[in-house]
Amino acid sequence: MLTWTPFELHTAQPFGIARWTHSAYERVRVDWSLDGVTGRGEAAPNAFYGETGATVPAALERLMGAAGDPWEFRTLAGRLDAALGHHPSAKCALEMAAVEVCALLVGRPVRDLLGLPGGEVPESSLTIGLASLSEMAAQAQAAVARGHGILKVKLGTPQDEAILAALRDVAPEVTLRVDANAAWSLSRARRMLDVLADYRVELLEQPLPAGDLAGHAALRRSARLPIIADESLHSVASVPALAEAFDGVNLKLAKLGGPVQGLRALELARLHGLEVMVGCMIESSLGIAAAAMLAPLCDWVDLDSPLLLAAEPVSGLEWKAGRLQLPPGPGWGVAWAE
Ligand SMILES: [Mg+2]
Repeated sequence: MLTWTPFELHTAQPFGIARWTHSAYERVRVDWSLDGVTGRGEAAPNAFYGETGATVPAALERLMGAAGDPWEFRTLAGRLDAALGHHPSAKCALEMAAVEVCALLVGRPVRDLLGLPGGEVPESSLTIGLASLSEMAAQAQAAVARGHGILKVKLGTPQDEAILAALRDVAPEVTLRVDANAAWSLSRARRMLDVLADYRVELLEQPLPAGDLAGHAALRRSARLPIIADESLHSVASVPALAEAFDGVNLKLAKLGGPVQGLRALELARLHGLEVMVGCMIESSLGIAAAAMLAPLCDWVDLDSPLLLAAEPVSGLEWKAGRLQLPPGPGWGVAWAE
């Protein structure tokens, strides 16, 4: 039996990127019960990819009728795509629930069901969202004091140089990554390349608008740091076209349609010579547990959402400073507090 339940997440501080600032997020949990176990999935809709908390329930009603047998999880995405067009976070929740049902029925973690390695997860970056200069600097300083070694700073403002200077001031040794969230022009991005080098930035995520692959390819030719696609990657099928324009891709299950689709995108990216980051929306530790399964196969990890939340309904995902520990338990290995 399939059911869905809406819930809300709140970030501890308003979370800002170039397009918006929010502190409340509408999410939906999917439960798939079979033979005494219940698999769970999370829909983390993002308006940029055409979904909201208001559209997911209606999408789920349509998709649930097409879901079929959870053991046929490798062909689930095809059935869901035939039932409804692009609605990736709703499909992600269903695919997550399907694979967890099967993993729970055999008493193993989902990663075992899918044949994925366990072990060490690369340290996750912690995101410093857009806020006032002094708030961003204070957040960076606090993160370093808590033991974080990698910060990802949101840019895409008229004061990007000042933000980098302020962060380097308080965190001179930290590994710094930049995400412009598609907010720069090509000329602005070209000028920023030298600034990024001056501040020893490790990688640059999505400098230009999502559809501007030619611009990204041109920028990449003069860049000395890796350029990573995020907004430009909106489905598994969009991966091959990114290989000329980018050095790597940021995979998020909520935009790809679930953990099996995330794995397909990862393998496709590797076949096309792309490096891989696994990232997230603002989502609970349930969604993060699913993404974390891919993390041992990735070059970069950006799964910090649980660290940004004021509180959350999910427990069982442990962190050691910036390092996520893969839960040992069956299924996703996390518990939902009722
Ligand atoms: Mg991004």
